[in-house]
Amino acid sequence: MTSQVHVSTHPLVQHKLALLRDHRTDPKMFRELLREMAVLLAYEATTDLATADVTVMTPMGQASGYRLQERIGLVPILRAGLGMVEGIWNMMPNTEVWHIGLFRDEQTLEPVEYYNRLPVSPTVDVCLVLDPMLATGGSAVATIGILKGWGAKRIKFVGVIAAPEGVQHLTQAHPDVPVYLAAIDERLNDVGYIVPGLGDAGDRLFGTG
Ligand code: URA
Repeated sequence: MTSQVHVSTHPLVQHKLALLRDHRTDPKMFRELLREMAVLLAYEATTDLATADVTVMTPMGQASGYRLQERIGLVPILRAGLGMVEGIWNMMPNTEVWHIGLFRDEQTLEPVEYYNRLPVSPTVDVCLVLDPMLATGGSAVATIGILKGWGAKRIKFVGVIAAPEGVQHLTQAHPDVPVYLAAIDERLNDVGYIVPGLGDAGDRLFGTG
């Protein structure tokens, strides 16, 4: 594993991960856990954001502090990435949320773009690409490629569970993109599901399983 891959060992992340995986966890609890885990993982992914000095007046006097200087963009990979947006957005309310829609061509198995309303030039300094499941890595690699074509300079991937195949694909295609995860599992099965994983994250999130 390269140094660009960060797997959280935080007890809160690992506690919530076990609950998220559990097949008895219902969609309401699944949504809450995913939202909370996204916040914790984004916290780890944002330790290097630039800050500017500020001075504020407390009721007792003047205090120096910091404010975030960089503009952040969240780019959820549909569908399941949507479940990671809200918590991070609440924590960083000035964040922009950009949607890029991809589907997998059944013949070529390559991701095909069907929705992209990115403006002509980048409006953010750092993009966080969100997808709880990094399986083959195809969607993440394509999404990051689109963001780079847009001119995004700093991109980070924030996921929950990855397959080794997905990690390899992503780190080879985009070695400049740090990857933040809660776990790297054993393998992909022959229909592209992560084992042991948690099943279909989109279905469990939206109650469509
Ligand atoms: N997407 C999912 O939701 N689950 C997997 O295991 C792989 C991809």
